[in-house]
Amino acid sequence: MIVILNEEQNEKQLKHFIDWLKNQGFEIHFSQGKSHTILGLVGDTTKLDTDLISALSIVKEVKRVQEPYKNANRKFHPQSSIISAGSAEFGGGAFQLIAGPCSIESSEQITQIAHDVKRTGATMLRGGAFKPRTSPYAFQGLRDEGIQLLVDAKKACELPVVTEIMDISQLPLFDEIDMIQVGARNMQNFELLKELGHTKKPILLKRGLSNTIEELLMSAEYILAGGNNNVILCERGIRTFEPHTRNTLDISAIPVLKSLSHLPVIVDPSHATGIASLVLPMSLAAAAAGADGLIIEVHNDPEKALCDGKQSLTPEQFAALSGAVHDILPFSFHAS
Ligand code: PEP
Ligand code: MN
Repeated sequence: MIVILNEEQNEKQLKHFIDWLKNQGFEIHFSQGKSHTILGLVGDTTKLDTDLISALSIVKEVKRVQEPYKNANRKFHPQSSIISAGSAEFGGGAFQLIAGPCSIESSEQITQIAHDVKRTGATMLRGGAFKPRTSPYAFQGLRDEGIQLLVDAKKACELPVVTEIMDISQLPLFDEIDMIQVGARNMQNFELLKELGHTKKPILLKRGLSNTIEELLMSAEYILAGGNNNVILCERGIRTFEPHTRNTLDISAIPVLKSLSHLPVIVDPSHATGIASLVLPMSLAAAAAGADGLIIEVHNDPEKALCDGKQSLTPEQFAALSGAVHDILPFSFHAS
């Protein structure tokens, strides 16, 4: 970290500031230029509050040279992390295909889709039981019953399962769930992230609708700092000025995240586009850009889906996607 001091310095205050930094274990490099005096701080500055330092009257500007996340940083963990969720292994070179409905609607629906997607290449089953909906009048998910139906489908089809948590009070229901999703709307629910950091469950952390890559990594940091190393990142599109698609898929986030962090990265082209016909081309782009997997919404009858039917693939369309993605994997880019 670099601290640029104000031209007019109060010697007593400066000495006090330097002593305070040294007491915290930092080595200080002092450089007196013609117009500026600069302090270079050497040591782990991740826990230093830059706002607090900026507020000192002797300080003109504070600049971080190192990223503010340590646990998620590839610099301190050069090897890509491999994270297992049941039989699905993320980050080890294998490509994972998570598929299933936006929401679990009935036992027949989830079990039928699970069988169909497993047969055509899915390695994990998705399905929402607790649904974050914009309207309080829209279908909110089957909640506890939905989790039970997902666990039943897991047993019937022998696929590991992922579903979204919206509040930490729901955690006891997730015992038999292989991976817990933190949705885009909860990416910065810091209390939820802290609590999940105290579990050992794999966490699928989706990028917030208007969040930067660094903010996503800082949210992952909350979980990692609590002792849970099992975090998988998900790019799911961000809000831009473009109304043609539900969101704008940030393909470049994949190699950027993979170069900044050792955590696996998957892509959700369903929520990114909101349109079923765009899911295949965006899946191919994600696979080519080096993603470790995809999470795709599939419904046995998209027109009658209680949630997100417009972006849901039929099992037949998913089968075609699965084949096409596997065909291009040998040509995909690897950032690390
Ligand atoms: C979902 O995956 O069901 C979902 C709601 O996604 P997101 O949080 O990315 O909108
Ligand atoms: Mn959905």
